[in-house]
Amino acid sequence: MTAPTLERFSSCPLWCAGHDDDQEPPPVRWHRSEGEVVPVVERHRMALGGVVPAPLTLTEYVVAVEQDTQATYVYIGPLEEAHRFLALTLDSARRLHAVLGGLLRSVDQS
Ligand SMILES: [Zn+2]
Repeated sequence: MTAPTLERFSSCPLWCAGHDDDQEPPPVRWHRSEGEVVPVVERHRMALGGVVPAPLTLTEYVVAVEQDTQATYVYIGPLEEAHRFLALTLDSARRLHAVLGGLLRSVDQS
């Protein structure tokens, strides 16, 4: 088995990680960056305050940039669970980034 060859097309944005030879002929209709893998600890249970604390799970998330003919997205999802993800437009990701920054600053100051 040989490793797939990745090709960049002239229509690719600079951040595009390339495309498999057999994946899609040009013109390509989507692009994806290299994914950054981020270790995270998360809670799956919705409700807080039970007698037994909600279990925490260590997992890895992938963060990447994707683009199709409609928009450019920030993709965030567990490495091993492709069905669970966020794909946010850039404006949405910036709003979320601003709120997260504010929340984390307030937690850090308390
Ligand atoms: Zn591309």
